Amino acid sequence: MLIDGHGREVNYLRVSVTERCNFRCHYCMPEKPFSWNPKENLLSFDELFKFIKVAIDEGVNKVRITGGEPLLREDLDKFIELIHNYKPDIDLAITTNAFLLANSAKRLKSAGLKRLNISLDSLKPAVAAQIAQKNVLSNVLEGIEKALEVGLNVKINMVPLKGINDGEILDILEFCRQRDITVRYIEYMENSHASSDIQGMHGREILEVIKQKYTIKKVGRQKSSPSFNYEIQENGYIFGLIDPHKHDFCEDCNRIRLTAEGHLIPCLYFDEAQSIAEAVKEDNIDKAADILKDVLANKPKENRWSEEDSEGSSRAFYETGG
Ligand code: SAM
Ligand code: SF4
Repeated sequence: MLIDGHGREVNYLRVSVTERCNFRCHYCMPEKPFSWNPKENLLSFDELFKFIKVAIDEGVNKVRITGGEPLLREDLDKFIELIHNYKPDIDLAITTNAFLLANSAKRLKSAGLKRLNISLDSLKPAVAAQIAQKNVLSNVLEGIEKALEVGLNVKINMVPLKGINDGEILDILEFCRQRDITVRYIEYMENSHASSDIQGMHGREILEVIKQKYTIKKVGRQKSSPSFNYEIQENGYIFGLIDPHKHDFCEDCNRIRLTAEGHLIPCLYFDEAQSIAEAVKEDNIDKAADILKDVLANKPKENRWSEEDSEGSSRAFYETGG
């Protein structure tokens, strides 16, 4: 079992397999021109898997693959299969924008994938294109339907933004309710990369919109989940709200993050990280395990989004995987 410096059990590893993305979401990607890290800096799937095995042997039982856009990385299904075959009861999930999902959902499911979190910020083609800076909606919707068809468990993530998709909070809720899938509204998290014009919505503003149509009741938060759940009294549908500006979920935070270059990050907000790249390239498993334990010993008590002078994270979401 892995225990951090504040006595929390850490059993959840999020692995970014690439920082590259086929979308340019205004709230995630830099406005200014930028260049990707050279491909040769990426760890291979074998190298990432070496570290994942260490983490599983030490007590991790939940692995989420993210990015950038993870489906851009070739042979992702083979990587999923490696992890699944190593420990079939691992809770294995992907977070994706679903643009490339229609063609890969079946292969991913056969490889051992259990769950998918899919970003869906709008059901209007022009708004979706405005946010992602690309015509994306029909592919995304096709990807969602295909994932459901092959039996993957799907959750939807929406980031409501003032003046952009704030009029679609209820539409997305109904879209998910009709398909019996959960939607989680994520408050926009300030970061120094995203467009300065972006204005996110507070959790209470999101709830106000839903309350115009429905009566809602607080259900609470599952242990270690950042999502606070609410139930709609009229039909029993449960949706989630992720509000990073509170840090009540930090008290039982159970997660660490690995970037595609091998940086092990103890908290999404903080810049501190240690590299496991050398250890896995040298096949030095003991060294990788020591780095993992050291990073956990220094995992911060809570994030800093709630602090008044906070300007947000200086690490981009497409690098850390959100
Ligand atoms: N490309 C995949 C996707 O969009 O689902 C995976 C990576 S993306 C960084 C993971 C999640 O982070 C997405 O649900 C996205 O909406 C969210 N995200 C990105 N930037 C964010 C921000 N500034 N505030 C809140 N959520 C953000
Ligand atoms: Fe790409 Fe996901 Fe970031 Fe959008 S949120 S730019 S899809 S990584």
